[in-house]
Amino acid sequence: MKTLIAALALGASVVSAAPSTPIVPGRDYHSYADPAAFRVKHLDLDVEASFADRRLSGVADLTVSRVAAGATRLTLDTRDLGIRQVWWRKDAATLVALRHSIGARDPMLGSPLHIDVPVEAGDPDFTVRISYQTRPQASGLQWVEAAQTADKTHPFLFTQSQAIHARSWIPLQDSPQIRMTYNATIHVPTGMRAVMSAQPLDGNVDGVFRFEMPQAIPSYLIALGVGKLEFRSTGPRTGVYAESSIVDAAAKEFAETEQMLQVSEKLFGPYRWGRYDLLILPPSFPFGGMENPRLSFITPTVIAGDRSLTALIAHELAHSWSGNLVTNATWRDLWLNEGFTVYLQGRIMRAVYGDAREAMEETLDLATLRGELATLPPHDQVLAVDLRGRDPDDVFTQVPYIKGALFVSWLGSRFGVEVVDRFLHDYFDHFQFQSIDTEQFRAYLEANLLPQKPSAITASELDEWITAPGLPKNAVLPHSDAFARVDQLRRDWLAGKLPVDLLPAKQWTTHEWVHFLDGMPKQVPVAKLTELDAAFDVTATGNSEVAFSWLRIAIRNEYAPAWPRLDSYLTTIGRRRLIKPLYEDLMKTPAGAARARAIYARARPNYHPIAVNTLDGIVLR
Ligand SMILES: [Zn+2]
Repeated sequence: MKTLIAALALGASVVSAAPSTPIVPGRDYHSYADPAAFRVKHLDLDVEASFADRRLSGVADLTVSRVAAGATRLTLDTRDLGIRQVWWRKDAATLVALRHSIGARDPMLGSPLHIDVPVEAGDPDFTVRISYQTRPQASGLQWVEAAQTADKTHPFLFTQSQAIHARSWIPLQDSPQIRMTYNATIHVPTGMRAVMSAQPLDGNVDGVFRFEMPQAIPSYLIALGVGKLEFRSTGPRTGVYAESSIVDAAAKEFAETEQMLQVSEKLFGPYRWGRYDLLILPPSFPFGGMENPRLSFITPTVIAGDRSLTALIAHELAHSWSGNLVTNATWRDLWLNEGFTVYLQGRIMRAVYGDAREAMEETLDLATLRGELATLPPHDQVLAVDLRGRDPDDVFTQVPYIKGALFVSWLGSRFGVEVVDRFLHDYFDHFQFQSIDTEQFRAYLEANLLPQKPSAITASELDEWITAPGLPKNAVLPHSDAFARVDQLRRDWLAGKLPVDLLPAKQWTTHEWVHFLDGMPKQVPVAKLTELDAAFDVTATGNSEVAFSWLRIAIRNEYAPAWPRLDSYLTTIGRRRLIKPLYEDLMKTPAGAARARAIYARARPNYHPIAVNTLDGIVLR
């Protein structure tokens, strides 16, 4: 919230609409672009990655359609870019310099780049060439030192463009409702490899890699990774890019990706993107995964050795339909991406791993949602969040994800799961390669699903789901028998009725362990924690999720034997969901706050700018 207030105070921004005025559905309040005047339709990127000075440098050619006759001022989004020169590419041999200016920098939105385009340019399309370089602090780039990678031999670069970080490494119309195809030529140091959310083209020699993305995508899905990467195939259309020391483990962990792909196609229609590969990033990646088309970016924290955390892969794959194919028109509509994706993820996981595991995963998700609903103000508990004047990264709570998925499950409970699967299949067909808003979805739902069983739901029930805070009473909640057994065992052990060596925890799955730990009371005697740790070596677990749940208990109860693990966990992992709650827990006591600040001082230089943005507000307040 600190950065938000600063943004509002300093910003000479386009998001000046007062929150009391009605929101305009479909209007993107987080871009300077005017899509009614011009629309970018193709990007041709040619940049060199310099690790020594942490810069991308080169040119972006944008092919632009003039939508409004007579429009002459093209406005692009940028953030912290050094713009050198702008030309109109009149033809293959002729560049005409164009006048341009850069507007005031808004801390949240960056700076508009205004380009005066001559009236004679384009009929209706024209191409502008922008020569530019990024700055070392670019919010969408992370330059990782060799020491922070898996192999520790070469540095690593990766991008994270969602939500509005593409503008920090490419000047463009950075709005999810503007789709473009792209080509790219990436120059990297000898011995390193570039990969993108695109099809690699032949002829990658001497550090020059070329790519083509023939399907039109929004800017937040443009992605680049550079590292000392190897590739392992896991199926006819699937494979893994990773550093050499983890590539085999990753290929083994994610061997079921092709099977997931087949299940998804059967339920929701053809996979339209060619290949589906994974790029395993260094542990500082601030998210679990990012659904960059053809090449999802994945945190290494889900390589558990037992395929217990592969729901993440099902999730990113599901985005190939909800999100990448049918896209949120604005960040307010993110629930159309994420809620549907979590629902699809559940359908995939059920088919591949069975009902019992999916019931456990949904139960854990529900607990996370409930925890977050307890802390969020009501206006952030609705599916379509009003983000005017706010950082769009604020929308990434559990609400669009888990509440969004529960909405689709609720439709399934009223219309039948197969009917809803079919509806989604047709919805993806109908809106493919388009960006839509909440109101368009609702109109489509009312026209295509509701008439199939007019008595199934009422308008006020639908209203409550889409516009009211909290979880509607009619939500259909998951239930796990396995977890009910774990609950009983936990109670008996805590009450002293069951000795620790009779807990069947050696047979537990990751999910059962997480549920066992998350269900602990706030205060647990240190003697009990010592007993559990001695029996199962919990502090040393190699599973990042189990360790996370355990460390939260350790912080609450000041269980000192876990401090070295807490330190190494926070200084190696940068995944925001796994570290933010640990810092928040630490900050609740003076001793914890001192510990948090000491660890953060060492960890901060290796965190991603997106994680730093979140954590500064928690630890440095
Ligand atoms: Zn997602």
